[in-house]
Amino acid sequence: MPATAENLRELHQLHQRAKALRDRLTTGPKTLGSRQAALTSRKTALEDARKALQEAKVQLKKREHALQAQQAKIDDLKVKLNQVKKNDEYKALQNQIAHDKASMGNTEDEILNAYSEIEAQTAAVAKLEAEAQQFASDVAAFQTQMESQTGPQKLQLEEIEKAIAEAEAIIPEEQRDRYRRTIKQHGADALAPVEVDFKSHIGSCTGCYVTITPQCLNEVINAANLTFCKTCGRILYLAEEDHHHTRRTSS
Ligand SMILES: [Zn+2]
Repeated sequence: MPATAENLRELHQLHQRAKALRDRLTTGPKTLGSRQAALTSRKTALEDARKALQEAKVQLKKREHALQAQQAKIDDLKVKLNQVKKNDEYKALQNQIAHDKASMGNTEDEILNAYSEIEAQTAAVAKLEAEAQQFASDVAAFQTQMESQTGPQKLQLEEIEKAIAEAEAIIPEEQRDRYRRTIKQHGADALAPVEVDFKSHIGSCTGCYVTITPQCLNEVINAANLTFCKTCGRILYLAEEDHHHTRRTSS
């Protein structure tokens, strides 16, 4: 089996498919990990908001108790007011009552503010809860989908790796080492189609976009051995349209 453009193109496609599968197999768990981390921080934010709401309710209860105590104190003072005989004591009690009523007014304002804050906080917590729930089900769905794909993708990758090993039969024995080194260096991009302008007989490597020498181009067209780009070292083969062109013209 010779290292024709078709065979090399097929080998290149197999390497690219293997890379795409390997990428998916590694990015899936990474994406899941970052989504799970995001979910955890959302849940923490929700917990914090719940605690803050709980604390606000506790503070509200305290203010309501304080208001009751203030009212009871004023009621006591009013009873005393009816019992005092001396004018200056009466005045002092009146002042005290006026002062306590003002404090009560402040407490009432604080309670009203607390109610509206609690209302807003409750709505915010409900929103966070709904979002966290939606996000959790999205993450779970992503995980299920990812896990259901992992098995088939691994099998597919194994098949492609086998196909690569078989397709590598086209590599001449004496070029195997260099082929391996090139694959190691460039991965799935170790092979590059050559774009050819047949009118002027000029070809360029699509790996590095440098024009190749006419002699190099002839080697690529003859495809007896692997031809390596002198600039980037990639394995060259004729691009599909060029290949058809040569086939058409040579037949
Ligand atoms: Zn190149």
